[in-house]
This record gives sequence, C-alpha cells and structure tokens, in this order.
Amino acid sequence: MSSTVSPPASLGPAVLTGTPVVPGAAVGPVVRPSGAVRLPAESEAAVPQADREAEKARYRAAAELVAERLSARAAASTGVSAEVLSTTAGIARDRALRTTAEQRIEEGVPAAVAAVQAAQQFMDMFAALGGLMAERVPDVRDVRDRLVAELTGQGEPGIPAPDVPSVLLAEDLAPADTAGLDPARILGLATRLGGTTSHTAIIARQLGLPCVVGVGGLDDVPVGATVLIDGEQGTVTVDPEPAKARAQVDAARLAAEALAGYRGPGRTRDGRVVQVLANVQDGAGARAAADAHAEGVGLFRTELAFLGRAAEPSVDEQATGYAEVLAAFPGRKVVVRTLDAGSDKPLAFATPPDEANPALGVRGLRVARRNPRLLERQLDAIAEAAARTASTPWVMAPMVATVPEAAGFAAAVRARGLVPGVMIEVPSAALHAERLLAHVDFLSIGTNDLSQYALAADRLSADLAELTDPWQPALLELVALTAGAGRRAGKPVGVCGEAAADPLLGCVLVGLGVGSLSCATSAVARVGARLSTVDLTACERAAEAALATDDPQAARAAARRVLVG
Ligand code: PEP
Ligand code: MG
Repeated sequence: MSSTVSPPASLGPAVLTGTPVVPGAAVGPVVRPSGAVRLPAESEAAVPQADREAEKARYRAAAELVAERLSARAAASTGVSAEVLSTTAGIARDRALRTTAEQRIEEGVPAAVAAVQAAQQFMDMFAALGGLMAERVPDVRDVRDRLVAELTGQGEPGIPAPDVPSVLLAEDLAPADTAGLDPARILGLATRLGGTTSHTAIIARQLGLPCVVGVGGLDDVPVGATVLIDGEQGTVTVDPEPAKARAQVDAARLAAEALAGYRGPGRTRDGRVVQVLANVQDGAGARAAADAHAEGVGLFRTELAFLGRAAEPSVDEQATGYAEVLAAFPGRKVVVRTLDAGSDKPLAFATPPDEANPALGVRGLRVARRNPRLLERQLDAIAEAAARTASTPWVMAPMVATVPEAAGFAAAVRARGLVPGVMIEVPSAALHAERLLAHVDFLSIGTNDLSQYALAADRLSADLAELTDPWQPALLELVALTAGAGRRAGKPVGVCGEAAADPLLGCVLVGLGVGSLSCATSAVARVGARLSTVDLTACERAAEAALATDDPQAARAAARRVLVG
C-alpha cells in the first residue's frame, strides 16, 4: 500500500507515502533508534560446570535491572504508555522466561545466548497462538535485546534523547521505546513497518505525535536530514522547502487547537455563519449529536429505523420515534427526510420487488406515486411529533427530479404547518434548483447520490470509487449551481452528503456558497474546527481553484494549496 515518489531534484523534495495515523505536522532533523543490539553467536564456548550458578545469578541480575528500568519509566508515564511499559517490565521478570533461560545455563549455555534462546521459544509460541498473544512478540523481542545488551555490555538500546527537537524515523519501534518518547524532544515519528493498530500508532495517538506508518523508502533517509511529517496526508517529505514546511506545521497546530476547543456554533474565522449539523437516524443518535456540539440535525434518515420491518409502522409509532429526535434539539433546526426507500435502502413495505434497475427505479419520493397514503401518513406522524415537542421541523423529500414533484410535496408539507424542502440528488434537480425554490423553502444537496447520478457510477462500487469521489469537479459545479440558485432566491442551501464530513471539502463547499454542512456526528468537531481557521475569501479561492481542475486529486491538491499552503 505504501509507495515512494522520488521526483528528480529539479522537481522538488522527495515525498514518501505511507498510512496516516495521527494527524498533525512536524518538521525537524532525523534521529533513529540506536543501532540494533548485536546478538551473541550460538557457538560461544560452554560455561564450565563450576561457573553455572554465578552465570544464572548474572542473568537474574540483568533481568531485574531491565525490569526495574522499565518499571521506573512506567511510574513516570500515564495511560497506554504506562501500561505498555509495565507489561514489558513484567515480561522481563516473567518466571517462565527466567526458568527456561536458567535451564539452558544449567546445560552450559552462556547467559546472553540463553536469553536469546528462551525468548525465541516464547516468541514462537506466541506467534503460533496468533491474535492478541502474537501482539506480545515485539515486547518479548525488546526484552531479549535489553537483556543481551545488559549481559554483553552494549549499553541500553532504544531511542536517543536529542538536544534539538527531532523527528524519529525507524524500521519499527519496540512498544517500550514508543512509550518512553519525550514529546518535547521527539516532534513526530514515521516507521517503515506497522499498521494503524500497532503499538507505535496507539502510543503516538496518546502522545498526540504526528505519525505515519508503513512508509516505503524510509530506510534511505539519512540521520540529520530534515524531514516534514504530515500525519493527515500520510507523507514524509525529505528536505522540504523551509517556508512551506513551517506554514504546514503552523496550520496543523492551529487546526489541532481549534479541534480541541470546538464547541460550535460553526463559523469561518472572519465570522461567516455556517451551521454544522449532524446526520442521525434515531433519538439516541440525535442526543449523541447534541453532546458533540452539533447545532441541529441536517439529515434525519427516517427509513433506517424501519429497514428490517415487514409492515409499515403505525403513525403513532413513527411519531414517537420522530419526537425523540426533535426533543434532542429543542428550538433548533431539525431536518426530517421522508422515507428514502429503495435501491441501497430497500423497505419491505415500500420498495417494489424485482426492479431491474433499483437505483434508477421507484425509490425516495417516487414511492408516493404508487402509494401516496404512505407519504401522507408519514407527514401526519411528523406533524404529530412536532405538536408533541412544540417544534417546527423542516421536512424534505429525497430523489426529487422535477418541479411538479417538488410542488406537490411542498403543498402536502405546508398543509401540515411544516417547512418544506427537497434534496438535490439528481442532476435535473440541480439544473432546475431555482425553479424548485419557487415552491420549497430550502434545498439540501445529497452529494452521495448526486455524484452517483451525475457521474453515472454506482455509489457502492469500489471499482468506480474515483468517479463518485465527492471532489469530482463536475459534482462541485452542480453544488455551485444549486448554491447560486439559493443565493438568488434568498433561501438556505446545505450539503448533507458525505462530502460535508471532509473538513477540507467542507471549506470548499462553503466557498461555493453553501450555508450549512451536515455530517456524521464523529465529524462535526473536525469540520467545525477547520472552518474556524479559514476566512471566507480563502474558501472562495479554494472553491474556484478546485472547480478549475479536471479530476478529484487535482481538486484536492488545488484546495490544499490555498487553504493549507
Ligand atoms: C446523499 O445521497 O448524499 C444522502 C445524504 O442521502 P443517502 O446517503 O441517505 O442516500
Ligand atoms: Mg441519497
């Protein structure tokens, strides 16, 4: 998965890529862990019988010293770091490991060789057991190296403590090494091995150190070279342009500070209000969204609660469920979407069976063509929930393609004292956004389906993921068209598809003229925090730059250049 991009010198610094693990940026000179401990040759001369007790005592003393050092570092640490260090100390003290080593020494094997053989026995056993036990293998290897270093006078292995704040590059890191990192001296780290759940990753996360793992080509970067680690993009840039690197580090620091302090409401740095809302599917989700500082609900997917149901839920049951969501945001904006049955979300009581092409079939609002009472009963239930909670929810229809569809829906919603809107998920709706707004009070762009229908690519197809990438410039053009219609009509236009969960793209959407972003609760703070670090004019320039590109990668890069540097 990792790759190396090494352009010729004239094209700029080499950029190595890996898996991003902890966001943030760090620049500094490279340090590496002290060289590998030299393991003793198995052929070392046998220990004479008379010296074997003393050799065992030497082994025990070394094991105790290694364990004590690790325990002392555990006592000085907290959280995962402390846990990892005490686990490793426990292995150094482990009775079974010691007994195995002492048995070897009893047979005449020197203490250092006995340490290697005993550790190997345990590593083989843990590896064979697999799962969580296999994850102990690096800890045992680390203990082995420490024991051998102690017994052979090689000095304690591990991470250097550089005088100048530095960036640590390594093949892999022993858990105890990572746990003992001092963030004042080590600003970020990258390893050639390891995955997102490795110890390195877990501890880097706890320490908040920008981290990339699985980086190809890392071995060739010399100690002392300057590198820039970008834990969001998953890159290690060798000899970066100093001003650019500084700007990137500063931007990442600002983003981290903004994220930690985000409490809403959403606005750009220069004060443009942008509501940051949540996508939810039930009352529990809505309450979690309120706790995460979402300002309201931008998309309540009502169909998700009924996916497994054979029969239509009663009006009363629906009203109870809807009221729970409304009650989580008293006096705030809640946008209820009527059932989006069909295609990827079939409902047994609403979706026609055996459609040849469900994504282009009877889904969303189209269900009401065959079964108008289903929609009416749902609108009655929403009105009932509104009455029970003394609120006025906004109500929108999915999969609207034409002006008459929007007009008919709006009339039915207004008749119940609710606020009507429609989703923009079909290119025809984006093209006629202004005409739709003659009938409804707001628009919400569903970029997941809009990209599927604009690019003619199944949103669930992994093979076509590049076509449904929300950074597709043609999709952004349709967003711009819709936002422009909203501006002219003086009516709100938001985005509630996955596009709104990407903090960088969120800024671009705002630059395109969108007034609210609704995303998964887990993304609310990231999106809101990123917005708070940029000015509206920068968002507009980023939008313009992204629109001018021909593919999603170029669009992303163009927006990054404007917003990040
Ligand atoms: C969308 O299509 O972007 C959307 C928000 O609706 P869903 O993902 O539920 O189809
Ligand atoms: Mg949709």
